[in-house]
Amino acid sequence: MPLVVITGANRGIGLELARQYAADGWQVVATRRDGSNQGGLADLAGVEVQPLAVNAAESIAAFAALMQGRAIDLLIHNAGTMGPDPTRQSKDGIDAAGWLETMQVNALAPILLTLALKDNLRPGAKVATLSSQLASLAENVSGGLYAYRASKAAVNMGIRSLAADLADQGIILLALHPGWVQTDMGGPKAPLPVGDSVAGLRRVIAAAGPTDTASFIAFDGRRIPW
Ligand code: NDP
Repeated sequence: MPLVVITGANRGIGLELARQYAADGWQVVATRRDGSNQGGLADLAGVEVQPLAVNAAESIAAFAALMQGRAIDLLIHNAGTMGPDPTRQSKDGIDAAGWLETMQVNALAPILLTLALKDNLRPGAKVATLSSQLASLAENVSGGLYAYRASKAAVNMGIRSLAADLADQGIILLALHPGWVQTDMGGPKAPLPVGDSVAGLRRVIAAAGPTDTASFIAFDGRRIPW
């Protein structure tokens, strides 16, 4: 049974990833930070739930220690934050501290956690990070969301470096866009049901081969320009 690790799996896209991979027969290690609402995770049969606050170095170290000796086929960095209120990451105001916290969760954590778990990754394993179309430099013509956009663009750069640095191990690194999804983050106007987004993401991940490493791909297979 292949093993997938999913961060931020207590709600939203992470919870649906855990549900679908478990239903498909995968061994699922679903992480959530202490104190967060366990949501539907408690009801998912066969899913192992472990604590992980991705913005805390000691929590990453504790999780890596717990995973010692376990081979990982797929690592999904899903935990993420929109950062400060949009008005506080706009031309009208920048919450500098909030921007840095956003970087910690969205940009730094996936890189630190990948490195902490790199000895667990099987040859040919995949590391998929929930980035965002909003990270695309080429497609940013609408402005705003400075902290969120910058943090996802930064994680994309980290993914490109990891793809080069872990190529010897045969690890495939992907930056993914899930669509605009009906979750707490996506909000009430989001058009895409979470089940459809996750089904698409799973198809993209399954289809990815060595030549796809360091690619930026949407849930429907569209290649997103960096
Ligand atoms: P939600 O806001 O619904 O859920 C976010 C998840 O991340 C929660 O489980 C939350 O845990 C967890 N999380 C946040 N900070 C931390 C932390 N420091 N440590 C551990 N867990 C943390 O978001 P979505 O499900 O919508 O989004 C998932 C990913 O997809 C994110 O990376 C997001 O940026 C990306 N994305 C989403 C889009 C959308 O339309 N929804 C569009 C593009 C990208 P807790 O419950 O404890 O807060």
